[in-house]
Amino acid sequence: MFDYHIHTKYCNHAVGTMEEYVQAAIDKNLSEMGFACHMPFELMPSEVPREEYAMSLHTLNSTYFPEIERLQQKYKHQITIKTGLEIDYCQWIQQPIDEFIDKYSHRLDYILGSVHILKSNDIVWGIDDHRFSHIFNEIGVDVVYQQYINALENLVKSGKYTILAHLDLPKKYGFHPTNRTWYLNRIELLLDLINDNHMGIECSTGGLRKHIGEIYPEEQIIKIAIQKGIPLITSSDAHNPNEVAYNFPELYSYLKRLGLTHLTSYNAKKKSLIEIS
Ligand SMILES: [Zn+2]
Ligand SMILES: [Zn+2]
Repeated sequence: MFDYHIHTKYCNHAVGTMEEYVQAAIDKNLSEMGFACHMPFELMPSEVPREEYAMSLHTLNSTYFPEIERLQQKYKHQITIKTGLEIDYCQWIQQPIDEFIDKYSHRLDYILGSVHILKSNDIVWGIDDHRFSHIFNEIGVDVVYQQYINALENLVKSGKYTILAHLDLPKKYGFHPTNRTWYLNRIELLLDLINDNHMGIECSTGGLRKHIGEIYPEEQIIKIAIQKGIPLITSSDAHNPNEVAYNFPELYSYLKRLGLTHLTSYNAKKKSLIEIS
């Protein structure tokens, strides 16, 4: 079992030292774990409370990378620790993000690509931040989904990201598109685009801890992804050491029931298939 989406206290909205997350992963018998803190807040739009979302560029260089290297050495006989980051796609300010990726990519085993922030008309807002959730009704849930999926398509087409994180994030507070057929058609096209760009997707138990109480992405999307042979990774989106590998035994038997036989492991962006035992 492995968990590729682990935050730390440096994200400023999670608790626990990096070492506590490693010890939790060892206790849960994970063979691999990966840190995926958010990209530095300086790259995020200033209209959102970005200092609560992420660490500074200084912390990334002075603490995040060196601490991962120290823990990789210290625990190398017990667990494989990957270096990742969760990096947003924000089309209207994407150039510095692209430059950041170009500069740091060689240090990363994978990049989780996320869309947490949208610019809808002139409103910049966090779609998974409860302080902005009223905007779903103000703009209209269907419009939010259109803008969100457009952003995901552009993220994938950029070719800069490795794995798409929490693919159906707008469902977090229970908002669903009204036209299910339209939605699944758009998702199918998105999954083809992911395949064409050699990206993977994550199956995250993070959603189980939220209002929606459901894995990201929903079962139908996982089934289509498996049919298309898209690489899958498993994750918890842990923000507390006790959330590492959250509900993983259930997740793994669920994925096996849906027909998954292999997970994908990433080492310096290179994929290898791991059979699920
Ligand atoms: Zn995220
Ligand atoms: Zn996350």
